[in-house]
Amino acid sequence: MVRIRLNWRRFPEGEQVQFNDPIEALQALKDHRLDLVTYELNDLAGSAASPESPIVMHLMNARDDAALDAFRKRFGPLTDPLVEGGNSWLTMKEARERFDLYLRIAPPRPNRIGLVNDLMASVSLRPQVHFLDGAQTPQIVLMAESLYDFMLMEVATIHQVGATVTDCSHCRKLYLTGPLTGRRSHAVYCSDRCRVAAMRARNAEKG
Ligand SMILES: [Zn+2]
Repeated sequence: MVRIRLNWRRFPEGEQVQFNDPIEALQALKDHRLDLVTYELNDLAGSAASPESPIVMHLMNARDDAALDAFRKRFGPLTDPLVEGGNSWLTMKEARERFDLYLRIAPPRPNRIGLVNDLMASVSLRPQVHFLDGAQTPQIVLMAESLYDFMLMEVATIHQVGATVTDCSHCRKLYLTGPLTGRRSHAVYCSDRCRVAAMRARNAEKG
């Protein structure tokens, strides 16, 4: 699998300023008030190399305005406000609704793949060669232009490998099951914690 990367900027934790206004963002850049972060799409399991992977699932679980705001603070804006027209077309909430539809494209597989190709038509990726993880041999990496594009590539990968979005039977959190996700296809709980909590609840009911 070719790695996808995103070099992104976000305001440090606690910073109140939003990226909405390009002039504010430019000023923040000048003042070195922005954190530079790199996101990498490598697998869908949230490994040590990319613990927050896939980011799109964090967006899916941001179910109200406060959570969407927290998502924006944690991961940065959807698009680069310094690129012309880069931030004016979609709110976080609208993006969440779109990705929710994209993620729920159902099998059969050829249908899924056809729709995924339509989604990817708008994605910008720029190839670069990098030494990854201190490796001796360089590899080609595809650099995404925006967080939005990066999340579209996550969605494409989810459909490509045949992973599925499920909601946890205990806490209702959305999570992925199947290939590259580190979970069995028929897992019903998002975590061991929820599995144990559900078992305790059942036992308590039995008395
Ligand atoms: Zn859960």
